[in-house]
Amino acid sequence: MAFENLTDRFQAVFKKMRREDRLTESNMQEALREIRIALLESDVNYKVVKAFVEDVKEKALGSAVLTRVNPSEMLIKICHDELVKLLGDDNYHLESRSGLYKIMLVGLQGTGKTTTAGKLAAYFAKKKHKKVLLVGLDVYRPAALEQLAQIADSLGVTFFGLGANAKPLEVALKAQEKARAEGYNVIIFDTAGRLQIDEPLMEELESLSKNLALDETLLLVDAMSGQDSTNVVKTFNERLHLSGVIVSKLDGDAKGGAVLSFKYLTGLPVVFTGTGEKMEDLEEFHPERLADRILGMGDVVSLVERAQEVVDEKEAERQGKKLLSGEYTLDDMLKQMKMVQKIGNMKVLSSLVPGLNRLSDEQKDKAEREMKVFETVYNSMTPYERRHPEILKFSHKNRIAKGSGLTNADINRVIRKYEQSKELVKTMKNRGGKLPPNISNLLK
Ligand code: GDP
Repeated sequence: MAFENLTDRFQAVFKKMRREDRLTESNMQEALREIRIALLESDVNYKVVKAFVEDVKEKALGSAVLTRVNPSEMLIKICHDELVKLLGDDNYHLESRSGLYKIMLVGLQGTGKTTTAGKLAAYFAKKKHKKVLLVGLDVYRPAALEQLAQIADSLGVTFFGLGANAKPLEVALKAQEKARAEGYNVIIFDTAGRLQIDEPLMEELESLSKNLALDETLLLVDAMSGQDSTNVVKTFNERLHLSGVIVSKLDGDAKGGAVLSFKYLTGLPVVFTGTGEKMEDLEEFHPERLADRILGMGDVVSLVERAQEVVDEKEAERQGKKLLSGEYTLDDMLKQMKMVQKIGNMKVLSSLVPGLNRLSDEQKDKAEREMKVFETVYNSMTPYERRHPEILKFSHKNRIAKGSGLTNADINRVIRKYEQSKELVKTMKNRGGKLPPNISNLLK
């Protein structure tokens, strides 16, 4: 996940500062040196790093005279404010107004245009309850049209395309006519991409842009492409007057620095980020929240939003009540694991939860594997065994192991985990719903 290293480095700086009793020229010098290196290593553009470090220094030394607030907290606050400034104070939102809202996605090949066209369609159709038309303008690659049609189908959204020999502008104008005639609210054009910036394609995009009176032209940028992407953003912006950038693949091991640099270097806001291949893996970009996440404060608001989107609220409430009653079955455990899975995989989840970002990738992968083992064991049990796992004898376990391809040790581990959770639920009931202080031992 992007920004992990940066978060670790910021946290180390803040930790060191906790031992000081005020911000001074000399302790700030060391802190800023470390912050500068961390930002550069995360692929933040050197001009951006320079401006950031200078601003933090100026604020920190100014504030140190005025107040004797804990210097670590003071530094966190200053870094937070400066990061937000860097990312763009104003949240830029896509807002479909009355009439037909027209969005065109552009970008190099493989950056995730088609996938993101689908994600945006899902965003408008499911979250904003709009009628969406997805239009395929990549007439050079029949596979791309097919991919978009399949995505539209899976989302229950209408696809429009005129095959591989059509002219992109003609397709776009016909699609627009259809959208107007049939009362669509949002139209999303997925355009062709090339491996590099290429003049004929630019001309085609310019002509689309001039003739379609678009509301938004959004450029897809792959987070993995690092600093090169700034030049891509500048070139596309000169020709097409972009309204913003969508950064895809932030879930990969990208350093993420480009995301921190765009606004400062190009003036263009990041509007969304892509955090996976699934249709729901698109997050609105909120500078405040990202600053929190980078500084290791966890982005709880995004997590709650994501949880609200995917988890059935009634079921969550029912589970909560049940936990407070002290009852806990294997069914409950499965339901809870499913909720966690729906919110996102452990890697995404842990980047959003404060404290959890201390888990190593290995630990997170292990947690995900354990969830799968649990599900497999659960599916191999009879309904009676699920209600009374304590009756499981060696022979039952052998039968389950055989049927599921797991070992007896896997099954014992699942049952032990369940028993620990059951114990925890009982303890919580006795403590009036609060977690016991030794929770970290129990979760090991
Ligand atoms: P296009 O050529 O720009 O239309 O790119 P595609 O939409 O075909 O995407 C290229 C590849 O990137 C596909 O395998 C997508 O599944 C993948 N992809 C797109 N967005 C993301 C993302 O946010 N995260 C990850 N991990 N993969 C993505």
